[in-house]
Amino acid sequence: MPNILNTAPELYRIRVAVPVHLYDCFDYKVTEDQYRQIEVGARVAVSFGRQHVVGIVTEKLQSDAPIDSSFQLKFITEILDDQTILNEAVLKLCHWSAQYYQFPIGEVMHAAIPTLLRQGKPYNLLARTWKVLDLNADDKFKRSEKQQDAYKVLKLHPHGTAETILNLSGIETATLKAIEKKGIIRCELEPQNFQPEPVQLAQMPLTPNEDQQKAIQSMVKAKNKYQAFLLDGLTGSGKTEVYLQVMHEVLKQGKQVLVLVPEIGLTPQTISRFQSRFHCNIVLMHSGLNDTKRLQAWQHAQTGKATIILGTRSAIFTPMPNLGLIILDEEHDLSFKQQEGFRYHARDVALYRAHLENCPIVLGSATPSIDSFYLADQGKLTHLKLTQRAGGALMPKMHLIDLKIAKKQQGISQNLIDEIKKRLDKKEQVLIFLNRRGYAPVLICESCAWQANCPHCDAHFTLHKKPYEHLHCHHCGTINRLPDACPQCHQQTLKPIGMGTAKVEETLQELFPEHKILRVDRDSTSRVGSWQKIYDQIHTSEPMILLGTQMLAKGHHFPYVTLVAILDIDSGLLSVDFRATERTAQLIIQVAGRAGRGEMKGEVYLQTLRPDHPLLNTLITKDYRAFAKDTLADRQIALLPPCRYAVMIRCESRSQDENQTFLTNMTQKLREHAGNLIDIWGPIPAPMERKAGRYQAHVVLLSTERAKMHFYVREWWQQILHFKPSNMKITIDVDPQELS
Ligand code: ADP
Ligand code: ZN
Ligand code: ZN
Repeated sequence: MPNILNTAPELYRIRVAVPVHLYDCFDYKVTEDQYRQIEVGARVAVSFGRQHVVGIVTEKLQSDAPIDSSFQLKFITEILDDQTILNEAVLKLCHWSAQYYQFPIGEVMHAAIPTLLRQGKPYNLLARTWKVLDLNADDKFKRSEKQQDAYKVLKLHPHGTAETILNLSGIETATLKAIEKKGIIRCELEPQNFQPEPVQLAQMPLTPNEDQQKAIQSMVKAKNKYQAFLLDGLTGSGKTEVYLQVMHEVLKQGKQVLVLVPEIGLTPQTISRFQSRFHCNIVLMHSGLNDTKRLQAWQHAQTGKATIILGTRSAIFTPMPNLGLIILDEEHDLSFKQQEGFRYHARDVALYRAHLENCPIVLGSATPSIDSFYLADQGKLTHLKLTQRAGGALMPKMHLIDLKIAKKQQGISQNLIDEIKKRLDKKEQVLIFLNRRGYAPVLICESCAWQANCPHCDAHFTLHKKPYEHLHCHHCGTINRLPDACPQCHQQTLKPIGMGTAKVEETLQELFPEHKILRVDRDSTSRVGSWQKIYDQIHTSEPMILLGTQMLAKGHHFPYVTLVAILDIDSGLLSVDFRATERTAQLIIQVAGRAGRGEMKGEVYLQTLRPDHPLLNTLITKDYRAFAKDTLADRQIALLPPCRYAVMIRCESRSQDENQTFLTNMTQKLREHAGNLIDIWGPIPAPMERKAGRYQAHVVLLSTERAKMHFYVREWWQQILHFKPSNMKITIDVDPQELS
């Protein structure tokens, strides 16, 4: 049969997503051979304008597809992959996310692949795998325990283990090379004919309690189909054990599991629990990996060699040929939402992915987001509860300390100091939480009330004493010298007000000179490995005081901590953001959850100026669920998210007026089109209007009809981009999590 394509070679065309900040894909010409060879989801090198870029093929066009004659089609430069690297599900996921979050498809797809592939490096770059040659060499390591341990691990995996994975479990490449010299193992560059390893349990599962049993059963029933679960369980109620047992059922079918966590670096013990339960290929995907390791991990997932993929937010876009289960732990955590550029929420993308892959998904938390409670109420999530602490540990008791009447030393109430002393005397550990690093948040002049403010932001400078005395703006990074005297009245009456972690550390050292105090914040853990060191010390059971910020609140298991204190819960209650109370409640429960996880019962002290705050009282006299119920009811009355859907447009420029005028004109246009369907708030200045010398303002759009609102916003957003002044930065945030 004559091939009509032969007569018009420009009819061989493909559509390519290129990594530029434009909303369309672009068409390129290919030769007939290339057309046959090319697969959707493979990379091609193309020229775009004057740039040479790596694009991803999104479509092979039919010969009769209309030709865009507005500009001359170019030929692609080269095909980079002979097969697809993004499978169908991930391609669909990228298209959906680009559409939903109003972000350019080319950039979304680029975000989905590892850096080295973005740079056009060959797919099979490195795949070092170690395999045992001699299975009876146990007695050949008399002098090296390290080699002995490595050998034991290697023997468990007769098909070979990737060097990345060995490295991650603490086996160094040097050790492997030393064993290789003895001729006992071999490094293979690329395993051919890889067989998926059947999963083996390395450790017996615990006997689940009744709640756990129910949760496991209903999740296992859902395997091989889409169902979304909310696993709502107190801190320490055994959620991780539930994950492990459900994972086992899925792994036994030869399927892969994707586990998303907020921050891998901060939860080493979660990782080791997965590693010690299963003998199988587990890979980690997070921003701490170098490019090569990340590519390797990605390839293991993409080829199906890895069976468990444990990653942070962006791992949701990893292609996995046999995905059978998604777990998203600490689902309330804000780090699942990317707050710049492509502003997606990994939780929502994950729900959509599970739907595409036809597999179950579990969102787990001790303090589920109000958003998820809402979805559960609507029947979109199956709500499963774990109501007791596993292993018999009791929930800690909470106490409020009224700072208005309490006797205090440097901001710490006497009552609390006495309790800390009691615990230390009993050789227990104490955790003190304050979400403010540095020495003091404000420096003022006592004579004339001058305040040290950042010249570029609407914010106070934070006083730091180490490594030298300086003023630091935590919003734009400006660092200034500490003035010797007040710049306004020239008196030497400058005084730090309030306390940061460094100040509290000083106070505690004075109060408890003979005890160890470990400070954990971004300043004390900035060096690589320092967190691990601190972590190891905490687990020595020695009596000590742990003092820290956010970093201490997340998912850790500190078995010897029996007293937890939050020094200032009020700052979270004063914010203009309607989600601030939700975040504060989550923080209180998460920090409180660090107490009494072992055999000893814990207690929690909260210092506040507002002991009669209704939120606090519901939380303390009842529990988080009661708080969540009240909060959701409030949101329903106020018609706030999740009871309405939101889209936020942020605008940033050198002029307040320009922001206001532009946003006012644009919202006027939207009103003309969308009428009453969309409720528009603003334009209003951001809570911190000036940041790094630029002014920020925003509008928030709210509607009960998500699809219709998105439809209007899509068109409108393109107009905004078209009309905006060139010196103005405008961003769109669909389902914003923060109103700042
Ligand atoms: P969560 O993930 O909800 O914080 P974990 O799974 O970490 O809770 O469990 C808390 C502690 O209870 C862990 O030390 C765990 O080993 C233990 N645990 C969990 N389930 C059981 C069980 N069924 N029986 C005994 N101990 C359990
Ligand atoms: Zn002064
Ligand atoms: Zn600043």
